[in-house]
Amino acid sequence: MNLSYEEFIKRADAVKARIAQACSRAGRAAGGVELLAVTKTHPAAAAEYAARYGIRAVGENRVQEGVEKRSQTRAAVAWELIGHLQSNKAALAARHFDRIQSVDSLKLLAALDRAAGELGKRLPILLQINAGHDPAKFGVEPEDAPGLLEAALGKTNLRVDGLMTVAPLSPDPAVARATFENLRTIRDGLATRFGTPLRELSMGMTGDMDAAIAAGSTMIRVGTALFGERAPLQKPET
Ligand SMILES: *Cc1c(COP(=O)(O)O)cnc(C)c1O
Repeated sequence: MNLSYEEFIKRADAVKARIAQACSRAGRAAGGVELLAVTKTHPAAAAEYAARYGIRAVGENRVQEGVEKRSQTRAAVAWELIGHLQSNKAALAARHFDRIQSVDSLKLLAALDRAAGELGKRLPILLQINAGHDPAKFGVEPEDAPGLLEAALGKTNLRVDGLMTVAPLSPDPAVARATFENLRTIRDGLATRFGTPLRELSMGMTGDMDAAIAAGSTMIRVGTALFGERAPLQKPET
């Protein structure tokens, strides 16, 4: 990450302005959309920058990377897991993350509940929904969301804050828009049916944050616009 803190401030200010504009177009208060700084692949300094700027939480998509980075920073910032989580890493994730956004199976729910119980904490979670029906994406299918939520609400060591989704990669902006509107509709239906607010709608990234905010996002997860392009994954030598 070749980014000075001064440069980071400019980037973060620009994202904040984009949030404010999208909110104003949607007739929403700008305070209703939180900015999660996605620090994956970036060094611990990225989390330090975010904290210094006043961002509440950073997002990581791999457990091990997040655990290591957190141990390398003393920044007063919360850590949220946004990437796929396997049940065998649930205990590690429950210990080191402040919220897990990627809960997408009954097995994972049970493992997280058990781990949180052993840690004596009530772990906040979001349920990840494959609201764009994308075979390349994780998340429970919308028709299975009620069953997953019912199980989650029965876990005494978990607290369900809301839903999360990742839109399919598509050159057509209508695809992301439809995905976000679908998540919002799913949330509204579940909230009524189960009598629980499910306040958090974690949706929108660098490329599609405006559509997500228009559809009611309460948290956008932004990496590239804050820290620049991530280095491409190294291909193994052949
Ligand atoms: C990487 C990632 C983001 C951030 O993506 P950018 O396009 O860099 O803003 C958001 N959400 C998830 C789940 C991610 O893995």
